[in-house]
Amino acid sequence: MKIKISGLELGTNELEFTGKVEELGLDAPFYGNFKLNITFEKSHHQLLATINLQVNASFECDRCIAEFNSQRDINFTLLYLFDEESRETDDPDVNYLSREADKIDISTEIYDYAYLDIPFKILCKEECKGLCPKCGADLNQGDCGCPKEEFNPLWSDLEKLRDELENEE
Ligand SMILES: [Zn+2]
Ligand SMILES: [Zn+2]
Repeated sequence: MKIKISGLELGTNELEFTGKVEELGLDAPFYGNFKLNITFEKSHHQLLATINLQVNASFECDRCIAEFNSQRDINFTLLYLFDEESRETDDPDVNYLSREADKIDISTEIYDYAYLDIPFKILCKEECKGLCPKCGADLNQGDCGCPKEEFNPLWSDLEKLRDELENEE
């Protein structure tokens, strides 16, 4: 994704782009259209880009394996320091930009931040009950009727504790 910056004025500039995720170099789990908002704050010495990317993702829940869609709202900032020559820095979010540069390429940053946004543990909802380890039923749809004691060690521990307490009385 190359952004033309030659026409930016000093101060705040707001740009909006839309298109298909493929144009950003994104593929699964991302799909469909994206909306990209960039606010540029330009001064004589630097260009600060505050970026918001809205994109859809299709996930499979780690617990119940249901497929679900998730609207991702991804925010990051990039800082470009004007210099005679463009060169690399240690911080991936800080770049040097030649004063003559007329565009910036944010493809790598978009790609990295988009995939970083994918949760480590993907859940259709925080309280997803998952699948019954015995019969495979989706427990979000209701109780399958399998006895829980047999496969839930915590449960049986609690029962043992209850029995002990009852015996003490
Ligand atoms: Zn789930
Ligand atoms: Zn079951």
